[in-house]
Amino acid sequence: MDILFRGGAMEVGRSCIEIRSDNSNILLDCGVKLSEDNSEYPILNKLYPDAVFVSHAHLDHTGSLPILSHLQMHCPIYSTSMTKALTKELLKDSLKIGIEENRELPFNKGDINKTLHHNKNVEYGITYAMRDFEYTFFDAGHIPGSASIYLNYANNKKVLYTGDIKLSKTRLTNGADLSFCDNDIDILIIESTYGNRCHPDRKQLEKEFLDKVKETVERGGAAIIPAFAVDRSQEAILMLSNLNLDNPIYLDGMGAKITRIMLRQHPKYIRNHKKLKRVFSNTYVVESDERHHVMKDLKENGGVVVSTAGMLNGGPVIKYISNFWNDHRSSLIFTGYQVKNTAGRILLETGKFPIGEMLIEPKFEISFYEFSAHAGMDELRTIVKKTNPENLIIQHGEEDSINAFKEWAIGEGFNTFTPRLCDKIKI
Ligand SMILES: [Zn+2]
Repeated sequence: MDILFRGGAMEVGRSCIEIRSDNSNILLDCGVKLSEDNSEYPILNKLYPDAVFVSHAHLDHTGSLPILSHLQMHCPIYSTSMTKALTKELLKDSLKIGIEENRELPFNKGDINKTLHHNKNVEYGITYAMRDFEYTFFDAGHIPGSASIYLNYANNKKVLYTGDIKLSKTRLTNGADLSFCDNDIDILIIESTYGNRCHPDRKQLEKEFLDKVKETVERGGAAIIPAFAVDRSQEAILMLSNLNLDNPIYLDGMGAKITRIMLRQHPKYIRNHKKLKRVFSNTYVVESDERHHVMKDLKENGGVVVSTAGMLNGGPVIKYISNFWNDHRSSLIFTGYQVKNTAGRILLETGKFPIGEMLIEPKFEISFYEFSAHAGMDELRTIVKKTNPENLIIQHGEEDSINAFKEWAIGEGFNTFTPRLCDKIKI
């Protein structure tokens, strides 16, 4: 068996792994790497997949799927129904942004439609057969619909691809289903976003986050909360519902649309579907033509706005930053990991932010709460120990993180690989 890393190796972004056996050739994910001014795609030459298995909807796992259609590779794409529904929105949005920014895109709207047309639903926990292997999806606990993918090849090679995974539950998701641990795993392909650090206690983090929001609103400022459309926007409104503020909670950008899509899917994908529905109905969704009223309200009365993009790569959050950067009373409150070279990471590291031609140094308070949808270092180690694989492949992490995780794994006696882009591992 050959495992080829076409993306996501020694990096976060453009996850794309090819598995070639004697009788089949499949892809695990096909993402894109987004940074401030360019997109990087997986290496897709000499590729003839029989099928693509998609772990979850995030663009770093799905953003290049339409390229396959564009290159006339019309193979089936397997995912949960939630992943399909969310992927559709995220792909459409990435195309729209690409066109707005005059980027040269390797696919068009027709390619996105073809991609979705080839999508087939997979249910958690059911084993399906294809060519020389069987496959089962397990809830990965990362975002609604996310899956870890277990492949059992007839020649007795058992592969587990974690996708992005989280063991502990959040306000939105149940923790990962670890029943795959009952199988003897020959090859574990694991993410390592947090291979070198643990997360702070979530309850404490949530308390500090809500205190910061409250403090900002009480001094008459706007608490601007950048949030990813999938997962963090929903989690933010769920957390904020506990604050019982007099001011409305505004939700701007794609998060509202994504929440509606999530609520339309089967309730099993959401930890507390009823609560999300109730909280969302009490949230004020901002339409673009009324944004100036919302800004006015926030200026006069203070308040809270949750808005995309979570890493400040576009989206309405930029409009809020442009309006409030000079206001000492206001706060910009990050809620998640900022990938290298994104505007959010640059702002955190340099205190500077580009608006049009200007490079501004915001005067509002900037705080950072890392609500993660990924396993921390301790959880990653638990997965490795529980699955006890013959071969451990570490990917989807920045280099420091992968190297630290590797050092631990070798110390524990695991046969460990840390592939680079285009590396092929023969097992
Ligand atoms: Zn993800």
